[in-house]
Amino acid sequence: MEKGKKVILSGMRPTGRMHIGHLAGVLTNWVKLQDEYECYYEIADWHALTDNPAKAREVNTNVLGMVRDWLAVGIDPEKATVFRQSYVPEHAELHLAFSMLVSVPRLLRNPTFKEKLSEIRKRKGMTRMTLKVGRLQVEEELEQALRFLREEEVVKAERMLHSLINRAKEEVMERLAEDASVEGSAIPPEISYGLFGYPVLQAADILLYKGEIVPIGEDQLPHLELTREIARDFNRIYAPVFPIPEPLLTETPKILGTDGRKMSKSYNNAIFLSDPPHVVEEKIKKSVTDPMKVRRNDPGRPEICPIFHMHAFFNGDEAEGIERECRAGKLGCVACKGRLVEVVTEKLAPIRERAEGYTDGEVWEIVEEGSKRAKEVAERTMAEVKEAVFG
Ligand code: SF4
Repeated sequence: MEKGKKVILSGMRPTGRMHIGHLAGVLTNWVKLQDEYECYYEIADWHALTDNPAKAREVNTNVLGMVRDWLAVGIDPEKATVFRQSYVPEHAELHLAFSMLVSVPRLLRNPTFKEKLSEIRKRKGMTRMTLKVGRLQVEEELEQALRFLREEEVVKAERMLHSLINRAKEEVMERLAEDASVEGSAIPPEISYGLFGYPVLQAADILLYKGEIVPIGEDQLPHLELTREIARDFNRIYAPVFPIPEPLLTETPKILGTDGRKMSKSYNNAIFLSDPPHVVEEKIKKSVTDPMKVRRNDPGRPEICPIFHMHAFFNGDEAEGIERECRAGKLGCVACKGRLVEVVTEKLAPIRERAEGYTDGEVWEIVEEGSKRAKEVAERTMAEVKEAVFG
């Protein structure tokens, strides 16, 4: 790796095999950047657990699948340092040092945290609905118990009332336990300390390698701002150890999933780089298009069509013509999809082949080798940090 180049840090949570959205949104850019910068590409495995610690069981398999695809698309471990966060314990150490520099109200303003909070609150709203249904059921059962009493069916009424009282007791106990755990705070117990503090770990990820440039989309700017604040505060309070990282705003082509939402493994709408041709064909053929274009001659709106977005990314030469003909109602969706199947299967074939060419052992070796290199840098930074803090 050439020295004297600016340092870039970027990473991904290990979610398993990569899809077309990852290729267009991140990986194509990473391949370019590794020639111009000193790049550190992080497998952010601790981050993978921040919203669900049970995910730990899947992490190793996901790391293997993800790194296999990184290598297959052209990430070169000779040019870029591909490393696993948990193999470099200094991330946790720097995270701890930084956690003293960030206030709780500052973390409460973190947009991802706010999003998570509203997601949980929405879910709780649904729980309230379930409770409402439960209440109606209770009312019905009370009516029935009263009917039994009026009809002098005392044993039946007694049994029904007992069951209701027991359920009410359980409900009260559950509520009390939940309230005690929240201790009057508006933060639900689903928010872990790890999730709350993850932007601080992110700052440690970047600054451990003295990252100067961070390739991000505009929506991630607030996260980088926190890292910049931490670097500034550290330098001011202790000693000037860290650069203030700058964003490298990257325009990424829009890729939609086959259902028209953002392409994501969890939505089950993704076309994976490892999908064999018949699966690619099946997914493309089932994909939604512009719902207003029902017949071949109807004019279409390529801007909302996942098929067109994939044409624009993989089939740049023909995309303009496709857009024009779609709008003019001269191109049918069946033919348009057929052409995309040809293009995508052709583009993915060499990637799939390269991915299959690595054994698991080779992938792990690359990860271990990269992590060793990363650790050397991390140890040097931590030595500087301790010197700055404790003298
Ligand atoms: S013709 Fe192609 S771009 Fe236009 S709506 Fe159909 S699939 Fe989408």
